[in-house]
Amino acid sequence: MARLVLLLWYLGTLAAFRQASAVEYTALNNASSTAGGARFDGEIGTEYTKKVMNSSTVCIWQIFQELTSEDRRDVQAVSVFIESMEGVAYALIDTNEIHVSSEYIGNYSGDVKNEITGVLYHEMTHIWQWFANQEAPTGLTEGIADFVRLKAGYAPSHWVKPGQGNRWDQGYDVTAHFLDYCDGLLSGFVADMNKKMKTGYSPQYFVELLGKTVDQLWSDYKAKYGN
Ligand SMILES: [Zn+2]
Repeated sequence: MARLVLLLWYLGTLAAFRQASAVEYTALNNASSTAGGARFDGEIGTEYTKKVMNSSTVCIWQIFQELTSEDRRDVQAVSVFIESMEGVAYALIDTNEIHVSSEYIGNYSGDVKNEITGVLYHEMTHIWQWFANQEAPTGLTEGIADFVRLKAGYAPSHWVKPGQGNRWDQGYDVTAHFLDYCDGLLSGFVADMNKKMKTGYSPQYFVELLGKTVDQLWSDYKAKYGN
């Protein structure tokens, strides 16, 4: 029996790898003439970027437990653009584009390849996740994107520690750690939450999945870390 389960898991993973490879990935550096663009070419590169787009896709499908194409957003192609702009990066869901700031790459102090890999895991999550027909709290969708980054092993050292933060829906690292706590209470919680968000959002989803309101869960979480 255990062998059969392992075989089915293996075949599922193999299928995910094959299907993720069928998505078309494009990476373009439109800022090669800038210092940050040159650093991208030297330390990261478009070939590596496309590899990360592929591997993050497999990782996201597994975390979301979306093993068949019917479960997922219908995305045929994803493009990454390195360009001169403010901020760090953003994803456009209508056109499946990710834009990354060359200034951010140029000014980043430390392992820029590792940092941009984490940024790409975050932005690729936006490409695949459900937004509850625009009803989802932004803090939750940003938290899910950073939860994937955390699970993939690309949480940067500048993030807050588990238990920190003021509100569950503060977003990013704060919400990512909180979702990790929820996922510890119910394995696959984030996958289930994302599935529910295919059609809409209600705070009641926390009660349905974990038997407590999100406010109760947040205070349990804070108490666990003595905050
Ligand atoms: Zn984001």
